[in-house]
Amino acid sequence: MKLLELCGYEPNEIKKELPRVKKALEAYGISQEDIKVAEKRVEKFWDVELKGVRKLLGCQLRDWIDMILAPEEKKKIITCQIPSVGGMPVAAAVLERPHEVWGGFPKIANLHNLGAVFGKLPELLEAAENLCMTPGEIHCGCDMTEIGAYAMGRMGKRKPDLNITWACFCVEAPKVDGLIEDWFGVPTYYINRIQDDGFKETEVPQRIMDYVCAQIKGCQKVMSDTLGWEVTDEMMLKGMGAVMNCYMHWSEIAELLRADPMPLHQADMSLCDYIMFTGVQDLAGVAEALSILAEEVKERVKAGKGVLPKGAPRVMTATFTPISDPGIAHMIEEVGLAVGAVGFRLFDPDGSTKVQMSEKVNLLKWEETIANLYIQNMLYKGVPGKADLIVKGCEYWNLDGILWLNETPCRPFASDALMLKEFIQKKKDIPMLLMDSSIYDTRAYSAPQLRTRVESFAELLRLRMAK
Ligand code: SF4
Repeated sequence: MKLLELCGYEPNEIKKELPRVKKALEAYGISQEDIKVAEKRVEKFWDVELKGVRKLLGCQLRDWIDMILAPEEKKKIITCQIPSVGGMPVAAAVLERPHEVWGGFPKIANLHNLGAVFGKLPELLEAAENLCMTPGEIHCGCDMTEIGAYAMGRMGKRKPDLNITWACFCVEAPKVDGLIEDWFGVPTYYINRIQDDGFKETEVPQRIMDYVCAQIKGCQKVMSDTLGWEVTDEMMLKGMGAVMNCYMHWSEIAELLRADPMPLHQADMSLCDYIMFTGVQDLAGVAEALSILAEEVKERVKAGKGVLPKGAPRVMTATFTPISDPGIAHMIEEVGLAVGAVGFRLFDPDGSTKVQMSEKVNLLKWEETIANLYIQNMLYKGVPGKADLIVKGCEYWNLDGILWLNETPCRPFASDALMLKEFIQKKKDIPMLLMDSSIYDTRAYSAPQLRTRVESFAELLRLRMAK
């Protein structure tokens, strides 16, 4: 199957895995025609000349195939919802007993594979709309993807043994997970965060750190009870080490995007982003793919090779570019803009992707490290903290503008966008375009619909740079 070659499967693996792949695709109603469409989409959306990109596509595809077959192949299934920190504890369990446990993020597996690769996400979105998420009410495409899979019976014959999610920040995901618990009988654990930081507090108060640590320890206990064996602190440290190894390679690639000309298409970088934060089923495979890609991008930078002309205006987008439709990332580049940075990628107070642990963190206490990572990201900060970090990011990444593609259906993310723009522009003279869009459900926000406004913004940046 050409699709598997494009996704970096080795010849021996294709021979061995083909029956499983066929079985999984059949369970999802994927036809021969759909496979041909997918092959064309993969060649169009991703730079498959790069071995690292092919390997990353393979990690995503394997994760999805394993997820579909998990009810018949694995003893235990643990699902996680982004961006809860559940991924780290799950990584520890999977690393310890990979043949027994499937753990991962079904929404991301479906958004990437069913959405971006096969172009068939609308069937899950429509199933969610028919079940309970009324069209026109601007529901979150990520949550619709989750409940749509249950509505269509796509989660297999056996329900997950545990779902790890969150009930802070997001207003919709906890309700959807609550519905899934009630209607489909999936036991659910919520990892929370107190949200009483003062409006102007940019440092996370200790009481919040303590609370998050206790929540994460609670998750370790629930997981052990669910699995029937203890997930020890030692396993957690090992799992965290494996995740951090992937993180280092991911950060290396992201930092290379400071080069001019831009060495990597944003659709390929987005592939790294999503697998980095959710690919817990095969951390060794993810680390290998990311390290191969890091070397390939380094070579391009050394050779001065880019995917856009040198000097192209550089912008920051709010979120990773759309997972279910990489055509939007390509449209931004087609009008001449290089995406130098992404709000979600800003971790360090200097605006970079590197992680600097507070001196207060005891690195031997895995829960403190995870809590610190979890709440340091731009996403969790209040408006002043977010604005500070974005302004620092604009300087660090040498940006010419901010293309704030809002996650419009996400109430917590979108609701403070105008205020954020005001805060940023008081601190820095940088053009910022605020646009309605979505990284999950692009039916109302397709590339052609967004193009005219992005084109005008690109023109404005070019005129400003020419002065
Ligand atoms: S995109 Fe927003 S609404 Fe959707 S799950 Fe994430 S935080 Fe919740």
